[in-house]
Amino acid sequence: MSHLGARTAVSVLRRDLPLHSALLPAVDDVVAVEQPSEPLHALRPAAVVQASRAFVNGFDGDVLYAVKCNPDPSLLRAVWDGGVRHFDCASPNEVALVRGLFPRAAIHFMHPVKSRQAIREAWERFGVRDFVLDSASELAKILQETGNDVIPAPERGLGLVVRIALPKGEALLDLSGKFGAPLDEAAALLRAARPFAARLGVSFHVGSQCMDPTAWSRAMELAGAAIRASGMRVDIVDVGGGFPVAYPDLTPPPMGTYFAEIERSFESLGLPAGTRLWAEPGRALVAGGASVVVQVQMRRGTSLYINDGVYGSLSDAGALGFRYPVRRMRPQAPASDASLAAFSFFGPTCDSADVMHGPFLLPDDIEEGDWIEIGQLGAYGACLRTSFNGFDRTHTVEVRDPPLLQGVAPVAPATVAPELLAA
Ligand SMILES: *Cc1c(COP(=O)(O)O)cnc(C)c1O
Repeated sequence: MSHLGARTAVSVLRRDLPLHSALLPAVDDVVAVEQPSEPLHALRPAAVVQASRAFVNGFDGDVLYAVKCNPDPSLLRAVWDGGVRHFDCASPNEVALVRGLFPRAAIHFMHPVKSRQAIREAWERFGVRDFVLDSASELAKILQETGNDVIPAPERGLGLVVRIALPKGEALLDLSGKFGAPLDEAAALLRAARPFAARLGVSFHVGSQCMDPTAWSRAMELAGAAIRASGMRVDIVDVGGGFPVAYPDLTPPPMGTYFAEIERSFESLGLPAGTRLWAEPGRALVAGGASVVVQVQMRRGTSLYINDGVYGSLSDAGALGFRYPVRRMRPQAPASDASLAAFSFFGPTCDSADVMHGPFLLPDDIEEGDWIEIGQLGAYGACLRTSFNGFDRTHTVEVRDPPLLQGVAPVAPATVAPELLAA
């Protein structure tokens, strides 16, 4: 099939613009024809367009897509098609990729620790104007490498965003401790940056897959405290990413709850009119945008040996224990009425850490040769693949199917796993 392309974990090949979704094949048909013995990545650009549009329409500020979550060009185009015009990049490669695809995009360099070369190239060659920092030495680096260190010249358009540290929170992936300036230091950085900045901002990141909307309002209060302590006018409050999606047995409150909490707490800071909100969603825009079809190579009891694993696109199913939606695919055989049973997966490498406990509910009669479609892998799936042990070959196809798990309904009642809400 002409729309299939092989590629390795690290190379990003440009493919043609996604066909109109209705013209794309269904994933079952692709599996029936191709009988893939290597992992098949089934991209759903329409789901990404939809999730991006919903976020852009619902969030009262600028939406920066966090590119690290999924840098696949066809999903980046889907994010753009959904109305996103700002991109949160963290490396020179991400900056170059986004600039190559979208000459008019606003690119924000949101890694608090950058090489001098990366800063210089981003500023001079790729037109990046906004940089995040959480230390005085990073501020000095940015000012020097963008030629803004001698005379303050805000008219050159430099945007500086100070990332504040957050206490340990309740995100599934807690990122406190690595980045962020403590309150006093953040205030000092805001004062030091103000004369050089066309735009001055405060940012935070509550961690990924954060189930509790009040994590944002608590972080907002800290941002407010840093701004007050600095005595400076601030133009931007950037609330970061971390917006959650549904996984089996994990249904976050509707996205509107998060937006309302952010807006309410932002209003209560009483900042001057014109202060803008930014958000940096990754997972929330792209999780439904890809599944991976794997093949069972052996069954041993309730363990399935499959051809993808924690060194491939199932990294978060390993140590982090993410459970993804699954369905068995058996294109040639009549439907079976076997009941569901709980299975764990072993990945293809020889490392005993290449195990995914799940449990994953699949038909009891699953056997060697069957395929399994694993959903919600548009976020932190393919981008985490390695070539360890030589298992780096996959195929990629765009399909018209909806995601295996539909996203969070905009107004559905909240059901949150209690252990995830406990502080
Ligand atoms: C990873 C990251 C994001 C995106 O996080 P999601 O959980 O995918 O929404 C946003 N901002 C920063 C600073 C990040 O490191």
